[in-house]
Amino acid sequence: MPPAAQSLTPRQFFGRKGLLADWHPHYEYRPGQLAMAEAVEAALAEKKHLIVEAGTGTGKTLAYLVPAILSGKRIVISTGTKNLQEQLFFKDIPFLAKHLGPLRACYMKGRANYACRQKIYDAEKEPVLDGLEEVADFRIIREWEKTTETGDRAEIKTLPESSTAWAKIDARSDLCSGQKCPQFERCFITLMHQRAQASDLIIVNHHLFFADLAVKGNEMAGIIPDYSAVIFDEAHEIEDVAGQYFGVTVSSYQFEELARDVTGLAHRKEFGSQELDRTLMMMGERAAYFFALFGAAEGRSGFRAQEAFLLEHEEIYLDVLAGLELVALQLELLRAAPDEAIPLISRARDMARRLQFWMESGERTYVYWIERRGRGTFLQATPIDVSSLLDEKLFDELDTAVLTSATLAVAGAFEFFQQRLGLRGARTLVVPSHFDYASQALLYVPQDLPEPRNPAFTAAAALEIAELLMLSRGRAFVLFTSYQQMRLVYDRVSLEIPYQTLMQGTGPRSALLEEFRSTPNAVLFATSSFWQGVDVPGEQLSCVIIDKLPFAVPSDPVVEARIATIRENGGEPFSSYQVPQAAIALKQGFGRLIRGRRDRGVLALLDHRITKTRYGQIFFDSLPDYAFTTKRSDVEKFFAAV
Ligand code: SF4
Repeated sequence: MPPAAQSLTPRQFFGRKGLLADWHPHYEYRPGQLAMAEAVEAALAEKKHLIVEAGTGTGKTLAYLVPAILSGKRIVISTGTKNLQEQLFFKDIPFLAKHLGPLRACYMKGRANYACRQKIYDAEKEPVLDGLEEVADFRIIREWEKTTETGDRAEIKTLPESSTAWAKIDARSDLCSGQKCPQFERCFITLMHQRAQASDLIIVNHHLFFADLAVKGNEMAGIIPDYSAVIFDEAHEIEDVAGQYFGVTVSSYQFEELARDVTGLAHRKEFGSQELDRTLMMMGERAAYFFALFGAAEGRSGFRAQEAFLLEHEEIYLDVLAGLELVALQLELLRAAPDEAIPLISRARDMARRLQFWMESGERTYVYWIERRGRGTFLQATPIDVSSLLDEKLFDELDTAVLTSATLAVAGAFEFFQQRLGLRGARTLVVPSHFDYASQALLYVPQDLPEPRNPAFTAAAALEIAELLMLSRGRAFVLFTSYQQMRLVYDRVSLEIPYQTLMQGTGPRSALLEEFRSTPNAVLFATSSFWQGVDVPGEQLSCVIIDKLPFAVPSDPVVEARIATIRENGGEPFSSYQVPQAAIALKQGFGRLIRGRRDRGVLALLDHRITKTRYGQIFFDSLPDYAFTTKRSDVEKFFAAV
């Protein structure tokens, strides 16, 4: 702990005459921020778990960072996005370090974010690059590698997100020979580990955190050093991310990638054999045949017929497993195979294990499903309920976990969140927002539109949206619960309004957001990926329109399995799962609008079930205290007064 922080209390820091008041040019006393900091401090000191809903504008990052620093413990902070990770490391921590003295902090990202020095050196000697673009990107990477201290690609601002040259030299573990690599001591991954070992604050994202947690305790060691507490920001995302990493996936792409990586390495290091080539070809053909047996329908669907499938297709299934083992064996037996072949051997055997789990385990706590995306077929097994896994692997093992987000409570209570994640017995706190929602935002719910399930809804909603966008003079997000609905409405509305319209899917997410921010009066049409983690403060975003109450699609296999399990256990899934989940999603979506004390705007929900059903009240009770109307004339007055 820096000397200046010794024996400091949150009140001395956040109070009216506290240190922050002296240091921060835009300091405002925020009682919620102080309450949260004191709760985090107590949880860390008393080794308790804590859940905090902290509304937008509370200043929650400092409210957990400061007590984390004051605790003197090694603490992992896990964020939902890399953006927030960078904001903490490059903005908030330097601000605190400037005043408190040097802090021992670092950030860690997934391996694909870092360059592999060995691959860069190999690429200079061997022809792995295709086309002028790759060669140009590679030149930039090669020069940067000579000076960078972290090897984090985020430092190269000009490198396109989709750079194929980067994909050929990143530090993914698939081809990493670890300690046998000549670059091991200087490797960016080794350096990242060393920085983490020497840090008190380790900033990661949820994907890295759960990838690490999922392998900890197995024969593979985790990569995050031991810690006594974890703070999850954007904690509403944890259930999905944990489900992903505690689950099992095996895909047709993985077979193609394995064959490509083995062939590529054998070619580069000149150790292949005709036999290996034949085995790879045979494995590829068998895998292609096997995955084709699962049908070609695009999308996600549940799969419970493993036994019947095996009765009919056992031979090809066993052939696929045998093919993987044969690849592993041949790589082991080829004397000339370099150390880089070791991870390929493990990968082949790991794929066989995962495929066996999916096909044969019959583990009833998982839901088994198939996804077809483009050319790929993905066989997935997802835990139906992550709460017991999280209790066992995380919450029971740690002194303190703090989970915070602007959207965790449903109608002021945390029952839903606790039930989904475990964490029974955690302390809870709701910190009200620092904003005056009643005067800053107007929630408008028109009453004369058809029900969302009515076929006439789309046309009527498009008309309403066009009218609203004229009143708001564009400057809006129009958010949908489905892609198809977004496209249908976009086609109708974009020609009716005199403002630039943008639609999700027509470019990378960050580029669309940038264009939205820099184009006066722009309107963005988007689906769930823009409902969270998007920050457009100021007038540029003055209206958020949502088409329907965002219930999860009940036919989605994971949602379906969760609903069925609640029912089997005697619960009532609609009120205990579907409504609370949708209430949190709605709060997230509307949360895009008011990002600062001076922001003003209109929220429109085109689904009047919120006013006409009994469960609608739960949604109201979960939202901030917006002003409310059912009349468009009030929207007109609101914008006229802005
Ligand atoms: S240790 Fe692995 S990631 Fe690091 S430089 Fe070597 S091969 Fe690349």
